[in-house]
Amino acid sequence: MHRPQIFDRRRLLLILWALLTSGFLATSLIGFQVSKQAIRAAIIGQDLPLTSSNIYSEIQKDLVRPVLISSTMANDTFLRDWVLKGERNVPEMARYLREMKERYGAFSSFFVSDKSAIYYTGAGVLKRVSQAEPRDGWYYRVRDMKPDYEINVDPDLANADELTIFINYRVFDFSGNYIGATGIGLTVDAVRSLITDYQQRFQRTIYFVDPQGRVVVFGNHTGRPADLRNAPGLGPLIDRILQEKRGSYQYEAGGDNHILHVNYLPELKWFLFVEQNESMALAGIHRTLYINLAISFAVTLLVVFLIHLAFSRYQWRLEEMASTDKLTGLLNRHAFTILIDKLLAEYRRAPQPIAMLLVDIDHFKEINDKHGHLAGDTVLEKVAQVLQNGLRASDLAVRWGGEEFLLVLKGCDLAEAQRIAESLRQKIEVNSITLSGQPVPVTVSIGVSLYDSVESSGQAVDRADAALYQAKNAGRNRVRVAAT
Ligand code: GH3
Ligand code: MG
Ligand code: MG
Repeated sequence: MHRPQIFDRRRLLLILWALLTSGFLATSLIGFQVSKQAIRAAIIGQDLPLTSSNIYSEIQKDLVRPVLISSTMANDTFLRDWVLKGERNVPEMARYLREMKERYGAFSSFFVSDKSAIYYTGAGVLKRVSQAEPRDGWYYRVRDMKPDYEINVDPDLANADELTIFINYRVFDFSGNYIGATGIGLTVDAVRSLITDYQQRFQRTIYFVDPQGRVVVFGNHTGRPADLRNAPGLGPLIDRILQEKRGSYQYEAGGDNHILHVNYLPELKWFLFVEQNESMALAGIHRTLYINLAISFAVTLLVVFLIHLAFSRYQWRLEEMASTDKLTGLLNRHAFTILIDKLLAEYRRAPQPIAMLLVDIDHFKEINDKHGHLAGDTVLEKVAQVLQNGLRASDLAVRWGGEEFLLVLKGCDLAEAQRIAESLRQKIEVNSITLSGQPVPVTVSIGVSLYDSVESSGQAVDRADAALYQAKNAGRNRVRVAAT
């Protein structure tokens, strides 16, 4: 039997799919955003500042001993006596400086006499300092400064201009008069290996920058140009950073977002830059997001598929229950109103004739009265069967009322409809129905109408009803066609 589809299953599944997808998508994306914010907050608030202050405190720790050694030298009786005695035996002084240097593993050691302006090293006389020479500026600064010592980073003249951290200590004679500056120099190797170590452990880029914005010390890699003003993304920020001395910054470079923490180290007059490539830090949660989305997609697919299966199993029964008449198995009027709308919509797209046959059993009341209500039901079932069997799959057979049936024939003109109606009438007439052993004659009257494009379906049925009334009036068991 033809079972027209009333529920639009595909639309339902599509809506379900859209709901699940948007739900999963929303939760995945919100989760991702929350994690992203948390990771960014952790990088800015904890990770970078912590790395920065760890490096800073290690450097401060590393500087304590050299300062102590320089202080010892500045207070050494031998050194002061040697100066006060007129700086006579240069090899003696050279040996002293060499010994201090070697004993403490320093890179260089020095003494500059204020009286003679001679710069002594472990090798003897290096040069004479002069106020006119810019590279000797440090000495005159130390001579005039208030604190006992300073830490200064400069290229070392005595060591092929290697970048060196100098501890410059002021030396006084026994009566407190200034007589020169002494101290040791350290290579930046220790600092370099420190930041290399931190870089490798935490996947961060760490380097030192001087007040002019030039990279002075970096680990095993930086990828930064010597002058940071030329660094992509970072360049435009440099002046502000150097002015503010410390803080957190963000910039875009190479398609990635970078988070930068800056700290100023007054001992070295350097800025410590600690950077994290945020895109790299987010790679993990990006992966999680993709996995989430893939799982969501698979779950959605599975749910939609399972529901599709369940639908296929139950829809037929659901629709049957909702759309058919219990006694005859024909469509009920509710189903008709839905299906006729579909049919008429189809008609408007591609008109083809639609015929309406209203069938009414003759003197049914008498059958009921004579044989009982149950027997009447059997007659209804049998008549319905004959009607249904005479139709094509695309036609509709509706139980219209008590013993009235409406047949809707698609692609059927009036002449064809009349022929079919006549054939159905005959079939019912000759199809002898026996009730409790005795044959019961059953006939029907049929009114036929052809749907007219300007009318409603109700109007077409009314015209068929009028034709049916004529058939009844003309003596029943006959077909009448409605005027168009
Ligand atoms: P006519 O030839 O003019 O159509 O006469 P009729 O007796 O068939 O017409 P009428 O409308 O007077 O009677 C219809 C009867 O059908 C009345 C009602 O009790 C009976 N009927 C309606 N529904 C059912 C049903 O489901 N089962 C049974 N057994 N009888 C029904
Ligand atoms: Mg009747
Ligand atoms: Mg009737």
